[in-house]
Amino acid sequence: MNLLKRIQSLSQAYSSQVTEYRRHIHSNPELSYQEFNTSKFVAEQLRSFGLEPQEIATTGLVVEIKGKNPDSKSIALRADMDALPIQETNDVPYKSKNEGVMHACGHDVHTSSLLGTAKILAEIKDEFEGTVRMLFQPGEEKNPGGASYMIRDGALQNPQPAGIIGQHVFPFLPTGKIGFREGMYMASADEIYLKVIGKGGHAGAPELAIDPIVIASHIIIALQQIISRNANPRQPTVLTFGNIIGKGATNIIPNEVNIAGTFRAMNETWRKSALERITKMAESIAEGMGGKCEVEISHGYPYLENNPELTRRIKAAAIEYVGAENVVDIDITLASEDFSYYSQVIPASFYRLGTRNEKKGITSYVHTPTFDIDEDALKISTGLMAWMALKELNGK
Ligand SMILES: [Zn+2]
Ligand SMILES: [Zn+2]
Repeated sequence: MNLLKRIQSLSQAYSSQVTEYRRHIHSNPELSYQEFNTSKFVAEQLRSFGLEPQEIATTGLVVEIKGKNPDSKSIALRADMDALPIQETNDVPYKSKNEGVMHACGHDVHTSSLLGTAKILAEIKDEFEGTVRMLFQPGEEKNPGGASYMIRDGALQNPQPAGIIGQHVFPFLPTGKIGFREGMYMASADEIYLKVIGKGGHAGAPELAIDPIVIASHIIIALQQIISRNANPRQPTVLTFGNIIGKGATNIIPNEVNIAGTFRAMNETWRKSALERITKMAESIAEGMGGKCEVEISHGYPYLENNPELTRRIKAAAIEYVGAENVVDIDITLASEDFSYYSQVIPASFYRLGTRNEKKGITSYVHTPTFDIDEDALKISTGLMAWMALKELNGK
């Protein structure tokens, strides 16, 4: 049997085991940076495949599967393990047992799938050259992002892998389909907090007050000019203020107004200069109107660049694995992902695993209380990633 067929049949054969892993992790979700039991569970499975996982970044794990000539080349595969503060409303046997915590972003799927990939690769380690390094990371959902801690603690060193591949469930894509995008793919995301300080007073005597509501209104409108006049129209960028609080009344001018929002971009240079402009403009408008604006920016993840060469190669591997009719090109998104940190260090590619099944009623988007996946996707995902890694290492 050729190697592709062998991996496909192992992927099928292990899918019920991988589904059990997924259901166990789904039932026992843990929030970002608290993935202690998940990490322990993953380490136990890895050891049962004869592997030696190492702890990293508190709740993260790194494990290597060495083929022939293990020092010749290495490729990294990544999964994230954390869940979200959402109360699951699905009535399924594997429903979350932890009140208010749910795997609503499919990280249970990524983790169990990578376990399946580890099981396959451990079994066929005589069939590839080099080393596959697997990263099971904490805290994808929460700043500063578990990926940044994995990198800080050496997950991409000794030696540095030639590239890193990650997958994410995708409820817009039917099960069986795999989505790729070369180049810019996901946005950076920074949180912006503006405190506009005026001087409160009687609504009937504005001359005695400094009205922070009017100042805040000017700031909100003026900042949109950065998006329409300063941003490169060929590079998507977004500024949204989703929260504004000014606790006055019909007859009271308040002392201050608080505004909070998000800034997203697809270019690190522009991101930096836009954040400077936002700060300067908000401060100077408030000052010009007699008030003050305090600007606080909480930096989120960088923008995600899918290395074009690596993406083309793993896409070609996917075409071999699932057929050209099941491989699609996907659009950019202004959501963000901490996988982007890896893309700043080594060639990286992040692809999408179709998990939608309308017949089964599985259509909810990620981060919702009704999110679920079509588990048939697990029959493909484990072997597909093993095949991608092997193609990268064997080069044919
Ligand atoms: Zn998420
Ligand atoms: Zn996610």
